Amino acid sequence: MDILDQLGQLEQDAQRELKELSSLEALEKFRVRYLGKKGELTAILRGLKSLSTDQKRQVGGQANKFKADLEFRINEKREELLAGATGEVRLDHTLPGRPYHHGHQHLITLVMDQIVGIFQRMGFEIADGPDIETDYYNFEALNFPPDHPARDEQDTFYVENDRLLRTHTSGVQIREFEIRTPPVKIIAPGRVFRNEAVNSRSFCVFHQVEGFYVDTNVSFADLKGALEAFCYEFFGEGIKLRYRPSFFPFTEPSAEIDVHCILCGGKGCSLCKYEGWLEILGAGMIDPNVLDAVKYDNEKYSGYAFGMGVERMALLKYQVNDIRLLYENDIKFISQFR
Ligand SMILES: [Zn+2]
Repeated sequence: MDILDQLGQLEQDAQRELKELSSLEALEKFRVRYLGKKGELTAILRGLKSLSTDQKRQVGGQANKFKADLEFRINEKREELLAGATGEVRLDHTLPGRPYHHGHQHLITLVMDQIVGIFQRMGFEIADGPDIETDYYNFEALNFPPDHPARDEQDTFYVENDRLLRTHTSGVQIREFEIRTPPVKIIAPGRVFRNEAVNSRSFCVFHQVEGFYVDTNVSFADLKGALEAFCYEFFGEGIKLRYRPSFFPFTEPSAEIDVHCILCGGKGCSLCKYEGWLEILGAGMIDPNVLDAVKYDNEKYSGYAFGMGVERMALLKYQVNDIRLLYENDIKFISQFR
């Protein structure tokens, strides 16, 4: 008999026999007889090597199709017999479960909530402002006159009619001062924009948390107290702070604040560029001109303000070395931080 006929015959026999099987043992015997090492189909497949190339292709193709089909039918029959045995669909409890992915906060949101939470516990209220801001709230009322060189450090994206994407959350200060009378103690988290080259340390969109407090007798000591309390809670008890004189148009005096390098503890490492310190935020006493602009009596009231970049805090606290990772939304990266 021709080998193809032989194969066809085998297929017919197998189908007929399979239908009549009524136990798992019989099914197993059937499987071994056809597909086992010494099985009938296996024997045909083994014999392929003595055939011509043409025959090989023809017989091999059909035999493999038959094999796959038979494996499928045997599994189907097994399910049928198992279901018959218990009277219900059988669950295989040994199969691995399907992973269930819990959503969670993104690292930026996580850190923003940590920062805001700490200040809320110190009595700060949360306020919000628009992402698209007017020149007045973003610059002018904050003591950045139109030709002030400090504007150059905050190049942004302009929308029509004197509107721009805000470069900082400081404009919220003015918006809140206009509708409140002191004491005003507010934390303003939000998204900000800068027309900057994208690299491992800066991005064109990022987040800031601005804080400000105006009342009678608010001093630089109050500012130091608030920032130290914040850093202790955010980075850990005992972290050291350093104040460096700086310049911001809307605060006077102004300072940039560094913390002791959290990685090397101040000895010097690549994170702190061997300086032992990491810059974390800018702060200062609110310039009397700013209080004037919102018609607060600057003889009676004083206040402080500070602002920090959320991404920067996240990178430092969780030791991430590239800000772009925060925006790529790679699940493997994101799911490390919960
Ligand atoms: Zn270091």
